Amino acid sequence: MALKEYAARRDFKKTSEPRARKGASRKIFVVQKHRATRLHYDFRLGMGGVLKSWAVPKGPSMNPAEKRLAVQTEDHPYAYRTFEGTVPKGQYGAGTVEIWDRGTYGNLGGSIRHGELTFTLHGKKLSGAFALVRMRGKNWLLIKQKGS
Ligand code: MN
Repeated sequence: MALKEYAARRDFKKTSEPRARKGASRKIFVVQKHRATRLHYDFRLGMGGVLKSWAVPKGPSMNPAEKRLAVQTEDHPYAYRTFEGTVPKGQYGAGTVEIWDRGTYGNLGGSIRHGELTFTLHGKKLSGAFALVRMRGKNWLLIKQKGS
């Protein structure tokens, strides 16, 4: 996917979001609360110099019984991990973005390609083991693992 889709959706003369450049491959995660047309939470994992991204309408849950729909969206540049602010009207994702949680993660198993990925989050709000499981197309579930 690289960052072509990210760049194609944005006009960098109008938005202050980071340019489409690859960055470090640190194992970080960020959740950005995005008040756009519909409020959602963007869950992003640093991988391969970009942020693999999912929009979670209800936001992540620490309750293993609450499986949260997570719709995969375009890869974002690594620099997006610190982005907060306003995306102007008329631009893709117009609205406000604020960091809801951030931290590091560790791999437990699986891969995005195989549609199942488990990892441990070390954040302030989110901690312990989680799974992302692909259902169909871009639709995944984000699930807290029991007892972790
Ligand atoms: Mn978003």
